Amino acid sequence: MTENIFNETQSQSRQILKKVFGYDSFREGQEEIVESILNRRDVLGIMPTGAGKSICYQVPALMLKGITIVVSPLISLMLDQVKALNEAGVHAAYINSALTEAQVSKALYNAMCGQYKIIYVAPERLETNRFLEFVMNADISMITVDEAHCISQWGQDFRPSYLKIVNLIKRLPKRPIVSAFTATATITVKEDIACILGLENPKILVTGFDRKNLYFEVRHSSTKDADVEEYLREHPGDSGIIYCSTRKNVDNTYLSLKKCGYPVTRYHAGLSNEERKVNQEDFIYDRKPIIIATNAFGMGIDKSNVRYVIHYNMPQCIENYYQEAGRAGRDGEPAECILLYSAQDVVINEFLLDKKGENTEFTDDEMELIRENDMRRLNKMRYYCTTKSCLREYMLNYFGEYSHHDDCGNCSNCTAVYEDRDVTDISRKIIACVGECRGRYGANVIAGTLHGDRNAKLRSYHVDTLNSFETCKDVNLALIKSTIEELILSGYVTESQDMYRLIHLDSSAEDIAEGNTRVIMKWSPHKEKAKTVKVRAAKKKPGTVTSLDAEGMVLFEKLRQLRLEIAREENMPPYIIFSDKTLVDMCAKKPANKEDMLNVSGVGENKYERYGQRFIEALKK
Ligand code: ADP
Ligand code: ZN
Repeated sequence: MTENIFNETQSQSRQILKKVFGYDSFREGQEEIVESILNRRDVLGIMPTGAGKSICYQVPALMLKGITIVVSPLISLMLDQVKALNEAGVHAAYINSALTEAQVSKALYNAMCGQYKIIYVAPERLETNRFLEFVMNADISMITVDEAHCISQWGQDFRPSYLKIVNLIKRLPKRPIVSAFTATATITVKEDIACILGLENPKILVTGFDRKNLYFEVRHSSTKDADVEEYLREHPGDSGIIYCSTRKNVDNTYLSLKKCGYPVTRYHAGLSNEERKVNQEDFIYDRKPIIIATNAFGMGIDKSNVRYVIHYNMPQCIENYYQEAGRAGRDGEPAECILLYSAQDVVINEFLLDKKGENTEFTDDEMELIRENDMRRLNKMRYYCTTKSCLREYMLNYFGEYSHHDDCGNCSNCTAVYEDRDVTDISRKIIACVGECRGRYGANVIAGTLHGDRNAKLRSYHVDTLNSFETCKDVNLALIKSTIEELILSGYVTESQDMYRLIHLDSSAEDIAEGNTRVIMKWSPHKEKAKTVKVRAAKKKPGTVTSLDAEGMVLFEKLRQLRLEIAREENMPPYIIFSDKTLVDMCAKKPANKEDMLNVSGVGENKYERYGQRFIEALKK
């Protein structure tokens, strides 16, 4: 009997997924969450950006009797979600500070009359009298907390107003189902959310953080401007984000790309509110599909057709990097995340971290602790840029996930051509030198000493009096440095976790010194860039929509044009009309009638009614 009910709700939720959202199947984790909610169980969903959290609460919201309230911290995000829902034919509304009092009244009046199944609310609105009056008298089935990590002081963006959610839940005449979602995976934050929100026996679901459609690349580059320009030239028409760590870099890159005629815009905290808003919209509406920005940009942007994210500078930590890079390919189509690394980036970041301590309410001791943490995270980020192992694996391990295979086939290390090189001899000399220096120097001085360099800095340290001086005179300096990195990554030597990064010996170094262990390292004697270009050329087509052949690409471009045309008529972001993935599927299936069109992933009934015919016409031509 129970099984029957179970199957029934299951097929109902799949029907809604298909009919309203146009998707054939749930993604990993979605169906379990939907079912838990329909069984009236609280849930906490922890899923990476782009995994599809919205579907997890939107589908059950349509099946529950009453209204679902979604608490969301960002106005732009709410706006997007409500637009997307209305496009899919679902009546939804939002209440935030962007509305006038009269508009709020109207929205709540409509809600009272049962017009909306889903209402998005900003947290600071929860305790206004009018809103309280509404929720006390309405039938609230579920409270959904989006970006739930904002409730934790341990999270990266704590919002005191999120604590109001708890009061709201307590005051409601009937306890609603509570569902919470976040992309922050650390244990402290997870426990905080469940505890503070008072989730009752919640179903906690953590889906894998791997984003298989993203290609990760680290490129050691001393010609970043040229690299970016070349990339843009090779990817015309694609939408992308280029992140820089300073406003100055944003402005310079923006101006030079603009001069070359690329459709670019920019975003950073130094621009006026008005300009930021306009630029952001130009990007979202694909009027200027390329944006150059600092990390101030991106929170709450869920543009799904971003095909690449280039980091002009190395970010401060893996958390930030994964989140920023993760803004690529949210539609599930192939996308690229490229980090242009130079040693100078480390210096910029140290400077930025140092500035972070100014004018804060923290005590010196607290600041000291924060700084230590920041440095540790920065170093982990730096290792990402120097490791020769799988980049995806490195990041997943960082988040506590272990996949047990070390070749993902979709990152620059897994696709690179490295040769195995025996560096035991160099390693022994490095270890001797580190021993001799007794933790006084960092990697650059050690490498310079072994190589026998005589620059001013080395002379001031009198390294030429050391026995190790010049012992690797004939070895390429880059190889010495790489070998030191290798020894750090494999734990034979350690680096102090502060900005000096002094090198010390680990006890395991003895194994190498005494000749018990050989050190074999992956090494590419050529410039990183030459190597990656070669590998990329061997692939079918870099970046976008790899599944299409040449004819398909022409068709795809046509459909993309039509989408842009409709988007302009409707004043709607193009990806809300149809995602890139949906267009690709159309190119493959070439639907000629309604039935075929509804078979395309992402085409629900409402969207068919509105745009289906125009796309069928375009395909016929
Ligand atoms: P998140 O909030 O987790 O970052 P979103 O909810 O914005 O992710 O979803 C990311 C993209 O994936 C959206 O374009 C969405 O329409 C799409 N998506 C979600 N669920 C599915 C599904 N089951 N099948 C196909 N596409 C999906
Ligand atoms: Zn890999």
